[in-house]
Amino acid sequence: METFKKLLKLSRSEWPLLAWGLVFLAISSAALLVYPHSIKRIIDEAIAQKDQSQLNVAAFIALGVFAIQSVTSALRYYFFTLAGEKTVKRLRARLFTQIMGQNITFFDQQKTGELLGRLSSDTAVLQNALSVNISMLVRSLVQALGGLVMLFMTSAKLTVFILVIIPPLGLLAAKFGKKVKAISKRSQDALAASSGVAEEGISGVRTVKSFAQENFENNRYDQRLEVSFGLSKEKIRVVASFTNLVSLVGLSAVVFIIWYGGTLVIREELSVGTLTSFLLYVITVAFSVGMLGSLWTDFMSAYGASGRIFELLEKPTEDIETGLAHIEAGQIEFQDVHFAYPSRPEFPVLKGVSFSIFPNETVAVVGSSGAGKSTLVQMLMRFYETTSGSILIDGHDSKSYSLKGLRESIGLVSQEPVLVSESLFENIRYGKPEATISEVQSAAKKAFAHDFITSFPDGYETLVGERGVQLSGGQKQRVAIARALLKNPRILVLDEATSALDAESEHLVQKALEDQIGKRSTLIIAHRLSTVKRADKILVMQEGRVVQVGTHAELFKQESGLYHKLVERQFENSKETL
Ligand code: ADP
Repeated sequence: METFKKLLKLSRSEWPLLAWGLVFLAISSAALLVYPHSIKRIIDEAIAQKDQSQLNVAAFIALGVFAIQSVTSALRYYFFTLAGEKTVKRLRARLFTQIMGQNITFFDQQKTGELLGRLSSDTAVLQNALSVNISMLVRSLVQALGGLVMLFMTSAKLTVFILVIIPPLGLLAAKFGKKVKAISKRSQDALAASSGVAEEGISGVRTVKSFAQENFENNRYDQRLEVSFGLSKEKIRVVASFTNLVSLVGLSAVVFIIWYGGTLVIREELSVGTLTSFLLYVITVAFSVGMLGSLWTDFMSAYGASGRIFELLEKPTEDIETGLAHIEAGQIEFQDVHFAYPSRPEFPVLKGVSFSIFPNETVAVVGSSGAGKSTLVQMLMRFYETTSGSILIDGHDSKSYSLKGLRESIGLVSQEPVLVSESLFENIRYGKPEATISEVQSAAKKAFAHDFITSFPDGYETLVGERGVQLSGGQKQRVAIARALLKNPRILVLDEATSALDAESEHLVQKALEDQIGKRSTLIIAHRLSTVKRADKILVMQEGRVVQVGTHAELFKQESGLYHKLVERQFENSKETL
């Protein structure tokens, strides 16, 4: 009931359409209910009295009634379906906004494919229920009830007999509906899980192919499909037997009525025309009740799907607006920050990290992989909250900034920049949608991206394919740097920005970064020592702690320190590769 109310609320702006639908529904149902009555008149009056002209008129009226019925019923379908489609469109848009509004922890716990499944298949089930089915439901209800009234008016005696059949039929419907609902929910869950597997396979297709594991992925997906197929099979079986049962009961009722009605005609208690129209009403009622039965199962499926949709719709989203609107100077101070990812609370990743970055200072973080370097960035961006300790920005707790303001003031170039399937121009001004072409060009020049962009025939209008596949790693990186610089952020963060680059690109990225030194507070997480040498300060991290702080020269002198070892190791490696 609760869900029904929510659905009704969701379709509120479609109420005028639904009202029109109801008007046409009323007309078409009335026409359908009048029609058996006009047949009765044809048989009992025109045919019985062998009156040709009366027969002509009666047949003409019956045709007219039919015409009205078919036109209004098309209009009813049109209005109800349109209302349903509009509601589902709005629902999809709201669901997407809702998903985008969740915090990062939510995405750690959800598979992308499952969310996409919810957006497409759960809403599709609901779309069906809200559009076609709701119009058929109302029509069947009106016709079943109206037909019943007409039955009483035609022959009360006969009606009482068939009424015996209806209550057990209702009970049956309820029982089967419950069963179908349970199976539907499980089957939708299984389908969502299989979408999750497919999504992993498709988005990681390069890895899959490089290990020649197509078959492994195929099997994995097959297995998931098998589970959801098994449930669908069960559902089909239940639905099939139920609809069958309904039509069996309905058809037996017809035979029974012909027998009992025929007896009444023989006893001359009933006219042939009345019996005929009675039968037509019974068929109308039986058909409508049968329809209600199968609609009931569809609605139960939709009920399962909408439960999950509303669960997501009601999940609170991140508040990104409340708080200080932007960072002024760009001074950062980590004070004894402890942190564990919510998905692994027993595993501390940061164990009391303290350091500071003064305005316009460039600080590099080095350390072996898994030390917690990238996690520092996640904390600074407030993708996660600290377990204890605090992060001050310009002397204010970072929590006192609005998420929007904080993130708009920080330019982040991540390890694997993701480009959207739009033009390079749109990609660069992603973080500043109002930027002009000359601003975009100047940012691209700073990032040493302008030359390669203008070498494309379409220049800044060149379209980037899904995830920017036709750009090299270095080109993507420079587009990402241009995108970050365009915002003119107070704080620039580069997360291993040079690790995936060829020598030429690395050199250009390097130059781009050097140009920025001293212009804004910069935090660089780097593996290549060439990147960090010019930093004002280097933090050396090991197992969630900062173990050394100093300039390159200072740290390199400490021969027993980790930094010295890291430099030597890299030196060894580069000798090997030379
Ligand atoms: P680094 O950047 O120094 O290589 P990270 O900060 O990426 O290290 O990771 C530090 C530790 O945190 C690793 O043990 C890693 O497995 C873990 N970790 C990173 N991201 C997540 C996450 N989203 N959920 C759970 N654990 C994570």
